[in-house]
Formats: sequence, C-alpha cells, structure tokens
Amino acid sequence: MNILFATPECTPYVKTGGLGDVSAALPATLAALGHDVRVLMPAYRGVRVSGEIGDGVELPAWGPWPAAQLVPVKVDSGVTLLLLACPALYQRHGGPYVDASGNDYHDNDMRFGLLSRVAAQLGTAHSPLHGWAADVVHANDWPCGLAPVYLAQARALAPHEPTAVSVMTVHNLAFRGLFPMGSADLLGIPLHWRGLDGVEFWGQLSMLKAGLQFADAITTVSPTYAREIQTEAQGVGLDGLLRARSGRLHGIMNGIDTQAWDPAHDPLLPHRFSRDNLQGKRLCKAALQARCGLPTDPKAMLFAAVSRLTEQKGIDLVLGALPGLLAQGAQLVVLGQGDPTLAQGLRDAAERHPLQVAVTLGFDEGLAHLIEAGADAFLMPSRFEPCGLNQMYSQAYGTPPVVAPAGGLLDSVIDSDADPDHGTGFIMAACDAEGLQEALLRAVRAWNERKRWRRIQANGMARAFGWNESAQRYIEVYRAAIDAASVNGTLPP
Ligand code: ADP
Repeated sequence: MNILFATPECTPYVKTGGLGDVSAALPATLAALGHDVRVLMPAYRGVRVSGEIGDGVELPAWGPWPAAQLVPVKVDSGVTLLLLACPALYQRHGGPYVDASGNDYHDNDMRFGLLSRVAAQLGTAHSPLHGWAADVVHANDWPCGLAPVYLAQARALAPHEPTAVSVMTVHNLAFRGLFPMGSADLLGIPLHWRGLDGVEFWGQLSMLKAGLQFADAITTVSPTYAREIQTEAQGVGLDGLLRARSGRLHGIMNGIDTQAWDPAHDPLLPHRFSRDNLQGKRLCKAALQARCGLPTDPKAMLFAAVSRLTEQKGIDLVLGALPGLLAQGAQLVVLGQGDPTLAQGLRDAAERHPLQVAVTLGFDEGLAHLIEAGADAFLMPSRFEPCGLNQMYSQAYGTPPVVAPAGGLLDSVIDSDADPDHGTGFIMAACDAEGLQEALLRAVRAWNERKRWRRIQANGMARAFGWNESAQRYIEVYRAAIDAASVNGTLPP
C-alpha cells in the first residue's frame, strides 16, 4: 500500500510533543511491515536531515500559494521523508506553529493550507511525484485537516480518476485550528462546504472539524479518548459530529519507539540498565540529582515530570501537592516549557526549596531521557490525555507513573493497589488535588516496601509498548476505508 503520512512535526527534525514521536515511529513500523510510506512535512528553518537527498520536484505557484519544492530524503527507517520547501511560508524564526514570542503565525491558514493541499495532491492521479501516488492520505491534527477536504473535492471533480482515501487522526482535540471564515476564499473551500455540515465551527473555519467531517475514517490515539471525545464534557463542541461519525471513529493506542526508549541501549544515558539489573538506574538517579543540583541522596524519593507546561497537564496540581511531598523528604525534578505563570510557580518553588526541587525550563531531549531513567516515580496528573507517551516511557524505564484517570493513561497504566500482581503505577481516583495527594501517598508507601516497589517496576518494564500491534490496526483502518470507498464510489462528505 502507498501511504502518505502528512504531519506538521516529526522527530528528530522538529518536535513539540507526542505527535513528533508518532510521526517518526508509526511510519517506520508501517514501512517495516512492507508498505511504501512517505512522510510529508514542511521544511522549517533549521531542519537538518541526514540521508540520501533526491532531486527536488517543482510545485508551480497555485491559487494563493507561491511556488514550492518537494525534496525527497531517504532516511534510515526505510521511510521517504518529503520535505515541503516553501521558504516564504516555512523559513521562520520560532516553532512550527508560533513565532519566537509564542504567538500564532498570522498566516497559519496559508502555511498549513499548503501542507494539506500538497498532501491531497499526492493522493490523486496528478501527484507531483511521477509514478507514485498515495492509496491512503493519513492526515494528522488540524494542520493537515484540510487534506480530506481537498481529496473529497478532487474526487467530486474527477469521480472516475483514482483518488486516495483519507484518514484523519486526532492527537489532541483541544487544538481545533480556528481561522476567520474569510480564509475559506483563500483556501479554495467550495461555498457549499462552508456551512455547519462542512468546515464551519461557530462562524469560524475549523481545520480540525474540516478533517473530521470529510475524512473517510477518523482515528484517535487511545480507546478511552475515542469514547471521551464523544461526550459533551470533553468533546470541545465537536462531540456531536464525532458521535454522528462514530462508525468511522477508531481509538488506536500509540506505541513508543522501543529503540529510542530502551534503558538497556539508550545512548543518552550515562548508565544503562534492564529489568534484571537495576544498578545502572541507581547510578542514573545520582547523575540526575547531581545534574539538577540536588543532594545525591539515594534515600530521598525522587518524583519527576517532563511536560508541556499547560493547564491540560495538571502542573498546578503538582505545585499544590508539593508541601506534602516535601514533608515526606521527597525530591521533585521538572523539565518543561510553556505557560509563563506555571513556569514562574515552578521557579519560585525551586528557589524556596533548593535542596528538594529542581526545575529546568526549556526543551531538552537528553535530560528527558535522564529523568525517565533517574527518577523513582513519574507524575502525569493530566486533566485530559489523548494518549500520553511519558507514562509508557517511564514504565519502560522502571519509573512507575502516578497518573490521572483519563484517556490513554487509563489504557496504559495498571493501578498497583487495585491489581497488586500486575500493577505498574498509581491511578488517581479523580483528577484534583485530593486525588493526586492520595495517589502520591500510595506511591510513597509502596516505595518504602522495597520488594513491592521492585515488582511494580518489573511489571512496567515487562510491558510491550511497541508499535507493531497498533500499526496493524492502522492498516486495517486503511483497508476498510479503501474497501468502503470502492463499494460506495464517490463518498459524500
Ligand atoms: P503531548 O504530546 O501532549 O505534549 P505526550 O506525553 O504525548 O504529550 O508527549 C510528549 C513528548 O514530548 C514526550 O516524548 C516528552 O518526553 C516530550 N517532551 C515534552 N516536554 C519536553 C521538554 N521540555 N523537553 C524534552 N522533551 C519533552
């Protein structure tokens, strides 16, 4: 099968969160299963690739967009990376979505409209890659949300030409990709698709809604989140649409990259370890404490978080629980970036308790690995969590997670009090201050029972969080969408 995986970010080139990791690992696994997978991503400023770079393909100026280039790069994983080079849109200081001051780029409609447009074109008989067209265009999150619309448009215009099916994956429903409806003119959205049954969301254009409305299949990143987003409480206004399309909505758990996240072979760790020998983990703890300027005390229970600093991730709850943790003699290490108020709260806590709290503000892959390895327990009290990766990394690294009862956290952590034989962590009864407090106390209690803790660690380290099974599920979804399209002919939106 020819699969075009369209994404706004991909590890190791550019990553702001879990989508970056998924965009590397899922295509690689699909390629290993024998499929021809190409990953389409904008050539942002600073993206450096290693691999065999092919000849660029010119994309002539089209509609509102200037001329661009598609540059194929064969990367180690067997996947072809297609870099969408359009310097006027992508060569910017700042991140993929926001400028250096943290504000959305003013022309994100154009920037991600082009990404979606090219993704769709790669799934038509007019694919710019001569001799290659996608059977499936897999669009990820709002930046690719218009790809299913453009594919539906191509299908409507040329019903007898082969056109790829579209699969829309929601990595986080909270980001709806909202723009003034005026953008619809620019982006070439047909008038009759601009209403409530089309791309409109409360008078605006929602790129995510567009994708959900027009995709042949929808997936999200855990079974529990697939259910949650169909409820009014967690559907951010899109629950009605998701309920209406529930027959095409699948929750497929993310896996983790078990090569990059393997404590026995992790090149980013000063010491390695495995389920059978945790000596290296003890050394990593000391290395982490030293690096963070905390006393290298093996007897202080070390809690940690690596996270975007947002309301979603419950960092305020961690700050609220801090007095209780400090009273237990525990230490806390946090790595994150984001909301300035949360960052300040963390910085204040570190200043007030320099022997017990250390905070690093910024994005640091190496430190994230050392934290997963060196911490005793990992904190993830997310208010909602589509899938979450860190709770899986932490289980693989013998660092039992304390998590909220939400989304993919519920699907990937087994509470060790509820199931002492198989437990891998601690699930809060509710995502609030009390829930966190209670789960933390249970974690401290378990840590003080050495044998029990060892068992919880071993259970987590024995779990297989790889991508194989989930990649197979994506293939099933792709196949079902292709079969449905060939039975139905032109699909109505
Ligand atoms: P989300 O995608 O909602 O941010 P996930 O848990 O799914 O959350 O994925 C987050 C990914 O980003 C993980 O791989 C995590 O280690 C990484 N990460 C988040 N913040 C940082 C940071 N400040 N430095 C390094 N890695 C980070």
